[in-house]
Amino acid sequence: MRCPEHLIAAGALALILAACEEQPMAPPSPEEPAGETPPPEEPASDEPEGEEHGAEEPEDDDADYLADQEGRIFSYLPVGDLLPDSGPGNVDATIYQPDIAFPLEDAAFLNSQVYRYGGGQGSVNGMEGGQCEPSNYDYPWQDTFCESRARQQIMCPDGGHEGVDLRAASCIPESGVSHWAVAVDDGRIVGLAESKYTVKLQTADGTLYRYLHLKMDELAVSDGETVVKGQRIGKVWNDFFNASGERVPTTYHLHFEMYQNYAPDETTDPVFDQVNPYMTLVNAYERKLRGEE
Ligand SMILES: [Zn+2]
Repeated sequence: MRCPEHLIAAGALALILAACEEQPMAPPSPEEPAGETPPPEEPASDEPEGEEHGAEEPEDDDADYLADQEGRIFSYLPVGDLLPDSGPGNVDATIYQPDIAFPLEDAAFLNSQVYRYGGGQGSVNGMEGGQCEPSNYDYPWQDTFCESRARQQIMCPDGGHEGVDLRAASCIPESGVSHWAVAVDDGRIVGLAESKYTVKLQTADGTLYRYLHLKMDELAVSDGETVVKGQRIGKVWNDFFNASGERVPTTYHLHFEMYQNYAPDETTDPVFDQVNPYMTLVNAYERKLRGEE
């Protein structure tokens, strides 16, 4: 990719993965705390970010612009650049998996489900309105890893959002269109029997991907099934349950997580946990728009 550091980081990870043939299998976090529940406390305000925010400064240093199926020019804000007062973010530009397929078949818009239009904290940035607000369905993408949540995540100071959120190509309640999530790599569907709103895909190298909020009663896969890269898994939907087991629909979106063996430096043992998939998804989407996937 663009930065040599990415290659170095990916190479180091490959070494770590190669050195660890026995991958921890059990995902460390329970089902219930995930989802898009806004944090009960005031969002942290001591975030290090502060320069450009919002839609004014898309980052795209490619001379050749990439357009999606609708002709919209793809752009994205830098990794770790969250909406103001929405959380500390996590600046990790590593492309953990440079060969995966993008997890949605159609165009997608990465942005906040909680701090934008239709979210419970939209008023923090003056974004009051419904989830189908057109600007929710436009570029640039914005990172939401380590957005404020009352949940533990080792990458996020004081806890936070342990994945990123993807809106589908259209706002489903208005369009009525189905948008499919697909397997990002060859692998196996695991743990579906005990899962209410999460589909897990584990690959041969031990990477675990989690897809949340799909239409669980119309999945295209079954527990234990072997799937191939690009195979349909399920439709983007709003399935979610609270800790009491009650169905509480979230916004229509895919919450996407990626677990890796991660070591912050060469002297620390790796942990198997969610890492920021933002730049991995930017890379996969650019390849998709170029027709390489
Ligand atoms: Zn999410």
